[in-house]
Amino acid sequence: MFIADTHSDTLWALGVRHIPLQELMITPDRLKDGGVSMQTFALWTGPKGNRGDVAAIVQGELAARPVFEQAGIRQVDDPSEVKEGENTFLLSVEGGEVFESGISTVEEYRALGVAMAALLWNNENAIGYPAKGGSTQGLTVYGVQVVKEMQRVGMAVDTSHLNEAGFYDIFAKTNLPPMASHSCCKALCGHSRNLTDDQLKLLIRDGGYVGINFYPFFLNDGGQATVETVAEHIDHVCQLGGASIVGFGSDFDGIEETPAGLENAAKVPALLDCLRKRGYSEDAIAAIAGENLRAYFRRIRG
Ligand SMILES: [Zn+2]
Repeated sequence: MFIADTHSDTLWALGVRHIPLQELMITPDRLKDGGVSMQTFALWTGPKGNRGDVAAIVQGELAARPVFEQAGIRQVDDPSEVKEGENTFLLSVEGGEVFESGISTVEEYRALGVAMAALLWNNENAIGYPAKGGSTQGLTVYGVQVVKEMQRVGMAVDTSHLNEAGFYDIFAKTNLPPMASHSCCKALCGHSRNLTDDQLKLLIRDGGYVGINFYPFFLNDGGQATVETVAEHIDHVCQLGGASIVGFGSDFDGIEETPAGLENAAKVPALLDCLRKRGYSEDAIAAIAGENLRAYFRRIRG
């Protein structure tokens, strides 16, 4: 089965925070034990946004890749490249600060193999405004240009952390569906980072994608979550008609707490078992585990 995860902060944890590998939620062994076929590693621009040293942070993250490459986990550029039984990783960006110095930076990051990029993290930047803080302003003029350039070069536009007005601008002003790499359902947990049913319905209507985040405080208002709670969010997207656009966006190594029973990448099979117990067919589980993401990339890259 092809299993994909669309967000983790493992390169930040390894390359910037210098956390020992054995303390991480994602390690080469855990990816192999969990049967994770394609793990997305984010190049996060850091907590200070464009007030931080973004270039140095990204270089530190890129320099951590050999920990996985030397364990036989190669970088891929598209989920269609991943062979059965293989463990690979895909690069993403989390923070459009890397695109602030000019539109040509989008192609530069694309050339590095960056396949998806979150327009921002929790700081406002030249592209738009975060969900955190509640701004009602949409994307900037430059932000719309960046989104269109990303779509032109085949880089998935990731709306996780983006505010609602910016999210709706992508649908109103550009031509390809975005994704949300690590977001949950606001109908089940009221956190500002979560997606409303109206947002989810747009992703469903236009063939976008959502990877459900494993962070307990995005899953449950009290922060009480088990692997079952993750399955409930997946169920909710399916009930809205999104069985073909939902998957996993763990946020491993970027979260300090995890759901009981889903503590690290080796536990992903427990989530598949939850879906089985809920009556999902093997085909439906394979879709959620990774085939939906493959189909999304076919839609945006043609
Ligand atoms: Zn994030």
